Amino acid sequence: MDFFPLSGWIPGCTRPLVIAGPCSAETEEQVMTTASALSAIPEVKVFRAGLWKPRTRPGSFEGVGADGLRWMKRVKEETRLLTTVEVARPHHVDEALKSGIDILWIGARTVVNPFSMQELSEALSGVDVPVLVKNPVHADLKLWIGAIERLHKNGIHRLAAVHRGFHQFGKSIYRNAPQWEIPIDLMRQMPGLPVLCDPSHIGGDRSLIQQIAQQAMDLEMDGLMIETHPDPDKALTDSAQQVSPETLAAILTKLILRGQTGNHEFERTLEELRHEVDLIDDELIRLLARRMLIAEEMGRYKYAHNITILQLQRWKELFADRIHKGGNAGLDARFLGELLRLVHEQSIEIQTNVMNNS
Ligand code: PEP
Ligand code: MN
Repeated sequence: MDFFPLSGWIPGCTRPLVIAGPCSAETEEQVMTTASALSAIPEVKVFRAGLWKPRTRPGSFEGVGADGLRWMKRVKEETRLLTTVEVARPHHVDEALKSGIDILWIGARTVVNPFSMQELSEALSGVDVPVLVKNPVHADLKLWIGAIERLHKNGIHRLAAVHRGFHQFGKSIYRNAPQWEIPIDLMRQMPGLPVLCDPSHIGGDRSLIQQIAQQAMDLEMDGLMIETHPDPDKALTDSAQQVSPETLAAILTKLILRGQTGNHEFERTLEELRHEVDLIDDELIRLLARRMLIAEEMGRYKYAHNITILQLQRWKELFADRIHKGGNAGLDARFLGELLRLVHEQSIEIQTNVMNNS
């Protein structure tokens, strides 16, 4: 598949391309103030603002809609910035194009739905506008690739992917888990496709933006989309993750851009290996927890049958057996011995507690 490099469709684009602007357009004044501050930051080439906001629950601010298009037009006329808005419906595409919006972006909640993607792709057929495709809400690379393919098939070749993290269950420091191995896989499967990172939606918290943006640069991503608001705490949507234009400038100044020495392949491989280690550690933790639950059950069983906790003969046999198996698997006997002793100690402690509390 042929893709155009960013420099082919964003005048003066150098790495990283920075797209900035509020999560939502709120008022004409907010839009114009943000855009004029952003136009003073050389890396910022594109002004973003959400007009039609896909909110998880009804009743919250759903965007100013088509009214905001006039403000975007002013941004285009009065600053050097290009403009981009999120489109989710064919009529958004029509209205945005009529108002001269330069770039369209498709949000995570739309990319999950092949029917919506098909409709949008058809609405864009024969229209020569660049499109940014965010990753789908959940970690499904095929769905992301499918969305890009649908657009490409309908003649949209100025495309870029935007990595905005993936919904996860359970607690995490991130609003959306980065799962870097997924955009890395995308880069492998669609070589030449520009990939941007959206640290705002990954982090969900402005304090995380710097480190996420740095990681994206270290993985050789092409650009960043960062939500920017003149008064972030008062933003009507995503307030915790927006930064002021001044903070954005500071973040960009601190970014370290390592040379494109070919080292990125090394970085990517390292990232994949780290991910594998994370998965193995998770598994180890799960297994250890299960082993301790069984120890507890054994404690209760031993108590019920009035036998001692520590059966030295059983421990000696178990220890010898595990060291032997470990040796066959290439594990150092001293390391494994220490680990087994720790696990055994903990298991005895748990059984002792069961006995004492029974
Ligand atoms: C946004 O960019 O404001 C937005 C709604 O993003 P996403 O589709 O990534 O949730
Ligand atoms: Mn947002």
